[in-house]
Amino acid sequence: MSSSEELYKKLHQQNVRHRQDQNAWNELLKEKEGLLAETRSITNFRQYYTRWIKTEEGKAVKAKLFTTQNGQCFKCRGTLLGKGEDGSAIEHSEVHHLAPLALLQKYADAHPEVELSELQVFVTTELYLRLVHPKCNKQLGEMVGNLPDLNFLHDFIQEIR
Ligand SMILES: [Zn+2]
Repeated sequence: MSSSEELYKKLHQQNVRHRQDQNAWNELLKEKEGLLAETRSITNFRQYYTRWIKTEEGKAVKAKLFTTQNGQCFKCRGTLLGKGEDGSAIEHSEVHHLAPLALLQKYADAHPEVELSELQVFVTTELYLRLVHPKCNKQLGEMVGNLPDLNFLHDFIQEIR
């Protein structure tokens, strides 16, 4: 094969991969837009999250959290490994929201001027999610995470107290 043929082949492969990525991305965007439209009509972050975590993106983020946290619970630092048949322990953990969903919901209801899409980032962005044991998740409950981005929720708690 001449080098120009090789180059052509390489470019073609890259092109195919790029197109596949593009298609996957478009699919994801469509899926997200649908979910977001639904969220806007019912203003329900919990439902939005439950749907999202089942999407490819949701699963990928959960898997990434598991790796980032070295398979340890964010609260008790205990191992999140369970006895999954396929060796995956991810299903034995829950996602804790540093911006608790119920509180976020209250905030959205109290601030109709705030765009839901601005709050939606706290529901599905890795930065604001942590993996924990189900029992640890219950203990954390409505605790707001210690991130400067979440100060608006700390303030909100003071307001509604
Ligand atoms: Zn734990």
